[in-house]
Amino acid sequence: MKRNPSVFKRSARVRIRPRFFLMFFVFFGLLAAGCFLLANAQLARQIPPEKVIVGTGDPVTPIASERPDPVPGSETGDPSDPEAGGDDTPSGVTDVTLAQASVYVMIDPGHGGKDGGSYNGNLKESDLNLAIALYVRDILQSKGIGVLMTRDTDVMVGPGQREGLYTRATMCNKSNAVCLVSIHANAYANDTSVHGIDTYRNTTTNAKSEDLAAYVQNAAVKATGAKDRGLKSDAELVVIRETKVPSCLIEVGFITNPDEFKDLSDDAYRKKLAQGIAGGIIDFLLQENYVKEVTVTN
Ligand SMILES: [Zn+2]
Repeated sequence: MKRNPSVFKRSARVRIRPRFFLMFFVFFGLLAAGCFLLANAQLARQIPPEKVIVGTGDPVTPIASERPDPVPGSETGDPSDPEAGGDDTPSGVTDVTLAQASVYVMIDPGHGGKDGGSYNGNLKESDLNLAIALYVRDILQSKGIGVLMTRDTDVMVGPGQREGLYTRATMCNKSNAVCLVSIHANAYANDTSVHGIDTYRNTTTNAKSEDLAAYVQNAAVKATGAKDRGLKSDAELVVIRETKVPSCLIEVGFITNPDEFKDLSDDAYRKKLAQGIAGGIIDFLLQENYVKEVTVTN
């Protein structure tokens, strides 16, 4: 069959165009996908995993070099501070008696219910926080100190994850607790070598949070032998920002670190942590004259 030249030309053009568009779309499609993956990888690297997974505004502090925007001088932890956590008993818990009719502290086990916090295998942060918090409660109560809990079972505090953080602070503000200690565990999947204990405080709300945080941090490190990551600040941490009495938030370790995962899964280690935290709280109560040391006379 004889072809009309103009028809041939047109069909040739038609044959070339789809290939051109196909290449065009493939090229820009790959480019866009590449950018997306790169941006995601960047995001994952910069945003600590707990924030990504549960979005509770939890503090997860990557090693200093990886922190998105380090605030100079914001981390003022001084592990060698001889003033803080000063107690030589192995448990870190000083034997005390009340210096007044009653004294209450509030313990806040982070997360709970649908909000499990961070996970590693079958270790769920909300369960870990609660287990340690209940041991802290028992130790303090054994010294005659009243303990209020934001939760003492596996329940969601408040109407939602984020709102619950305000609920926790409000619970404390409406109570007669003289201080609040929030218990959390850290996670940093991007670098599983990161480990240790750190404690957050917000001194703009209450200047004495500095002392409470230092006592709790030092006593917890001393009781466990864990790495001392010092005191930290994060203005976005709702519970310690909205609580009016001295408060702090301890990150008891990284569940993403293989050794600390093992430790934090171990009941004996959790008890050690609890002794440290309770001991730090008692050190603070001693400083503030809410309790007094029991003098043993022979
Ligand atoms: Zn947490």
